[in-house]
Amino acid sequence: MSKAMNPSITWLNPEEEITAFNNLVTTDDQIQDIDNPIKQFILSNKIDKQKFLHINNNCDMRTKALLNSTSGKWAGAWVMTPPITALGLGLSPQEWAIAAAYRLGLPINKEKEWCSQCAGKMDSFGDHALNCCKNGHWIRRHHAILKQLMRDCQSAGLQPQWEKAGILGDVDGTACRPADILLPDWSRGKDACLDIAITNPLQAKYINNTAKQGGSAAAHYAEKVKKKKYASKVEAAGKVFIPVIVEATGGWGSEAVDIIKRVALSKLRRSDQSSPSTIINQMVQRLGTVLQRYNARMILTRLTG
Ligand SMILES: [Zn+2]
Repeated sequence: MSKAMNPSITWLNPEEEITAFNNLVTTDDQIQDIDNPIKQFILSNKIDKQKFLHINNNCDMRTKALLNSTSGKWAGAWVMTPPITALGLGLSPQEWAIAAAYRLGLPINKEKEWCSQCAGKMDSFGDHALNCCKNGHWIRRHHAILKQLMRDCQSAGLQPQWEKAGILGDVDGTACRPADILLPDWSRGKDACLDIAITNPLQAKYINNTAKQGGSAAAHYAEKVKKKKYASKVEAAGKVFIPVIVEATGGWGSEAVDIIKRVALSKLRRSDQSSPSTIINQMVQRLGTVLQRYNARMILTRLTG
């Protein structure tokens, strides 16, 4: 690339440069010559890919699961979020440190051995804290994500309704509410019922599969828990059921990705932005920051009591 920009550049020893690069990447990514320009970021990505594979092949199961899940769709968006408190984008220094340590797999808890909320055994990485269901922290985190997505839907002009009752009508006479958010006239004249949930890919029942395949926890939760419980009933009531699942490590499930993209397109029509990618980026940064804030608080609460 440099030579293409400036033909006067001469390589000191191109063969050695190529050999040095090829030693850092997989066989498929090796290059044979430097005559065809390749952008720097492409070369860097090839080296990063090999590093990822090397670490993934030589680490314990939890680290594999952590690597795979934190490589999920938009899982790292919060890291690049500008810390503008007035826009609700700030994390306190303590929250940021905890969230970053959790993402990097660094020990968080060296001294305290017992959870202050359930008296269960804490672990050094904070996994117990995210799995601990005591004292309504899961619900507060869920509602915070729900509120943020609700705001996005409102600003997109989608006329969302919050936890609308009686959706199932005669299909189910109970107080069952399968829609955290109801979006009118979403698909072919049918309303959409968005059911938002957060699941931890590092919990015992998901960690093995997550170590093999990132995103598997969100996919399993959407299909085997949410759709199994609600999809047929919601469809019988003439509506569309959409599970919006985000993994606690930040990656979004496939239906959630579709929803976020479509909400962003609706926002685009009402904004002065020229590209949906900017709006998507803003949405996932904000949602990711909310998720990490509540994750960090769950861990901090259990460390400090
Ligand atoms: Zn606990």
